[in-house]
Amino acid sequence: MSEGFDSYTKELFDALFKETSATAEVPAEVRERIGQLFERAKSSENLTQPIVDLFLELLNAAKNFKASPEAFGIKREELVALARKHEEIDEHHVTIGGRVMRAIPIVEEANRRVEEYLRLKDVEAPSGIELWDQIQKNMERIKKRLGMTDEEWNTFNGQLKHAINTVEELAKVIDLPEDAIRDVARVTQHYRMRISPYYASLIMPGKINDPVLLQSVPTGEMIDNAGIEIPPVAADHSPARLIDQFYPRVVAVKITNMCAMYCTHCLRIAHIGKKDRIYPKDTYKEALDYIRKNERIRDVLLTGGDALMLPNHLLKWILDQLLEIDHVRMIRLGTRIPVTVPQRIDDELLDILEYVNDKKPVRVVTQINTAQEITPVSKEAFKKISKRVSAILNQAVLLKGINDSKVKMWKLCETIQEAYVRPYYVFNCSYRNPQFAHFRVPVEVGRDIIESMYGNISGDAIPRYIATAGGKVPLHRSNVMGRADNRVILRKPWDGTIAEYPDADPEKYFCDDKFAFAKYGWNR
Ligand SMILES: *Cc1c(COP(=O)(O)O)cnc(C)c1O
Ligand code: SF4
Repeated sequence: MSEGFDSYTKELFDALFKETSATAEVPAEVRERIGQLFERAKSSENLTQPIVDLFLELLNAAKNFKASPEAFGIKREELVALARKHEEIDEHHVTIGGRVMRAIPIVEEANRRVEEYLRLKDVEAPSGIELWDQIQKNMERIKKRLGMTDEEWNTFNGQLKHAINTVEELAKVIDLPEDAIRDVARVTQHYRMRISPYYASLIMPGKINDPVLLQSVPTGEMIDNAGIEIPPVAADHSPARLIDQFYPRVVAVKITNMCAMYCTHCLRIAHIGKKDRIYPKDTYKEALDYIRKNERIRDVLLTGGDALMLPNHLLKWILDQLLEIDHVRMIRLGTRIPVTVPQRIDDELLDILEYVNDKKPVRVVTQINTAQEITPVSKEAFKKISKRVSAILNQAVLLKGINDSKVKMWKLCETIQEAYVRPYYVFNCSYRNPQFAHFRVPVEVGRDIIESMYGNISGDAIPRYIATAGGKVPLHRSNVMGRADNRVILRKPWDGTIAEYPDADPEKYFCDDKFAFAKYGWNR
């Protein structure tokens, strides 16, 4: 064929004209449809779609009835003209063959990879936005049973004042079976429970192992899990008061031991929430001195507990101190409060965030483990924060029954991204605390879940999968399978297919120093 087409278009014409017949029998409706498509493709001046539609339909006829275009009275030259027209109209000169033989099938193949997720995402992992009607009913019930005013519901102090701390209060707002209540009573003698009324309203009534219930109400395993308690992280990683450090340039400062809700899977369970403590300023001064003296430190993560448990004036004081330390270039605030008590995000706090972010980039690092934790209220809180800081990042913990399936984890990542939060890390639940051994998920189960996201959801909604083992260690699988000559064999994480990737020419990279402008005779 000397029509001057690219190989894809040649392939397309072969499929239409080779091994097909001009006298094939074709149902009348197909004949009629192709006739119409042909007229439309010829008459439309500046559109590509009618041409694509015609070729797709002709391709189907060739496949299904072995019918060539001539069976519909369409001559090869006419199709050649349409193919040329397509290439001319298209801004990027995409050929009809490229579009029909490659691009469209590739998209169809890709679509199949997300079908199951799209079918299940709102059933298996509904977000708090999708559950909003039920959550609002829960809110009304809880408000009434706890005797809260609207004013109290809508303020941080009101939420904390009415937080559910005892099994008796819990039984008032959530219907749990008798034996569950007994178990919670037993566990709360050893471990702190605190659930803000708002967070409690996210629990779906009657649902066994509701993911918000699991995260906030401690169960018998916490004391029954046998095992040796490994000393808390602070024991081997705290070089100074309040400081945790295992990296040269990043430190965490545990500015409080309080949280608005105590997680049943808390990594810092040994030093969080035993007893609420307000630290005197001297305590912070010692931590700040450590940072001041260590000029390598450039990124300071204020965490806890929950950094936003501090009152605004104290938070501002600490932030001002950090602004004054020249080598500290960025600041992070670790907080779960936007999902546990979003009412905390007041204008004064937002102004402080903007004021600091104007001087040094501030990132808010949060923890959201299920889409259910994103409601219109928490989304609004994140939206407001996002306007005042440089990024909001999420560190989720991989937890059995909570987010340990493809559907749940994808849904979490998509939902938070739509709520102005960028998925950052997913932690494999730590081995250090036997209290939550029942929540642990095997490393490779988590790896397969996270890697299944590549190519299927936005790249910036894909978190890194991490084990905390004296620093954060990525658990991802290598997709470099090996080498053939100077080509690298790559595995595509979304379907395991192989691609060969020609590597850089080692001669050019290692041996050629005089490249680009260096080859000109500049004597500088
Ligand atoms: C998580 C953590 C950091 C921050 O690590 P990044 O990888 O920079 O997010 C720093 N210090 C400690 C002690 C931490 O636990
Ligand atoms: S918010 Fe963080 S520090 Fe507080 S209880 Fe939950 S996991 Fe622990």
